[in-house]
Amino acid sequence: MTHTPYPHSYYAASANPAPARPELVGEAHTDVCIVGAGYTGLSTALFLLENGFKVTLLEAAKVGFGASGRNGGQIVNSYSRDIDTIEHSASPKNAKLLGDMAFEGGRIIRERISKYDIQCDLKNGGVFAAFTKKQMKHLEAQKKLWERYGHSELELMDAKRIREVAATDNYIGGMLDMSGGHIHPLNLALGEAAAIESLGGIIHEQSPVIRIDRGATPVVHTARGQVKARFVVVAGNAYLGNLLPELAAKSMPCGTQVVTTEPLGEELARSLLPQDYCVEDCNYLLDYYRLSGDKRLIYGGGVVYGARDPANIEAIIRPKMLKTFPQLKDAKIEFAWTGNFLLTLSRLPQVGRLGDNIYYSQGCSGHGVTFTHVAGKALAEALRGQAERFDAFADLPHYPFPGGRLFRVPFTAMGAWYYSLRDRLGV
Ligand SMILES: Cc1cc2nc3c(=O)[nH]c(=O)nc-3n(C[C@H](O)[C@H](O)[C@H](O)COP(=O)(O)OP(=O)(O)OC[C@H]3O[C@@H](n4cnc5c(N)ncnc54)[C@H](O)[C@@H]3O)c2cc1C
Repeated sequence: MTHTPYPHSYYAASANPAPARPELVGEAHTDVCIVGAGYTGLSTALFLLENGFKVTLLEAAKVGFGASGRNGGQIVNSYSRDIDTIEHSASPKNAKLLGDMAFEGGRIIRERISKYDIQCDLKNGGVFAAFTKKQMKHLEAQKKLWERYGHSELELMDAKRIREVAATDNYIGGMLDMSGGHIHPLNLALGEAAAIESLGGIIHEQSPVIRIDRGATPVVHTARGQVKARFVVVAGNAYLGNLLPELAAKSMPCGTQVVTTEPLGEELARSLLPQDYCVEDCNYLLDYYRLSGDKRLIYGGGVVYGARDPANIEAIIRPKMLKTFPQLKDAKIEFAWTGNFLLTLSRLPQVGRLGDNIYYSQGCSGHGVTFTHVAGKALAEALRGQAERFDAFADLPHYPFPGGRLFRVPFTAMGAWYYSLRDRLGV
């Protein structure tokens, strides 16, 4: 058997201790078999177990091996396209349900952390940073939109005020969301896995699913075992490959890169981000950054369509970091890694069923820390027979990428080039 370890990242190097979980060998029976132990799979499993289901999770590598253990750690409300876009494509009833759920993920994460005593460096406060007047106008509209859905912890910031929370001259203003914030993402995933096991859930690592037999009792196959279940939940997101061709056709795995400096020391760290908020800018291809628990700067940005691993991540990200914080010119980069998220054509998540008993959720297009936690709740509700909120997601239109596999990457890269050019020109 090949053993797939975590990538060399700051998160893997600072992960809380966790047991090695055995590969699936032989035949098992369960209520729900979940494919993938990222936040989608873990969140679904936890809600199901809390409601009396038997659950088995099959993970190809390790808990949090995918985006959930590699991301920027930023708790960002809403979806990659905001509720105003959803209002155009969903019925008023579904738009209201989805709008309300847009702020639920952060609450679920905080409840989980508190209920299961998960040590993952939670900090409150997230900033959206604007370079241009157009972006500032967008944030003003976003504040009004979010307030319409009852979200009130928002503050618009002018150039002077944003300089107080992020020591860079790059921005003309921004918006602070105190219900945003940040976490050590892998430690959140590991804490959720431990909570699952404390409730009797079973997790097999190093167990890639190679086939799912559909039917009245679906059977999920790995190289050395199989699980028979009443339901299957597919939560492999950008790492799923071609396991289910229906999902692959509407998926664009994309790589994004993150670096972490050496520990900066309390004084330098505090001078950059005095309140320890996380920041993401408002560009289409955005930069995002924050401090770690041990006061390093974690800085991410850039997208590689088709998820090829770039050769020199530091060469891509360090110049962006220094443009934001020239104060870090002498800081060493200690970790650099890449991770894959799943872009969809609409940039809205894809949630649905394949037949009666195979459910899936994927494609949060880069903003998934909160969404995956809500999706887990909606999936668990649907399996309990209360599918209203799940169906509100499932009814959102899904589109295959035009031109099939061959044209998927150039087509999307061209679109992104167009949007990032507009960002640079400020139009
Ligand atoms: C570098 C990076 C930075 C990001 N930063 C942020 C951020 O700051 N804030 C934010 O909101 N979002 C961010 N995101 C997005 C967010 O991390 C993801 O949307 C989210 O983690 C997706 O969770 P998931 O469980 O759906 O998928 P994943 O976490 O990718 O988990 C999928 C799991 O399924 C497993 N799997 C796949 N196929 C199989 C199979 N056949 N058999 C068994 N297991 C399988 C994989 O090994 C993997 O562990 C970022 C993403 C990346 C890559």
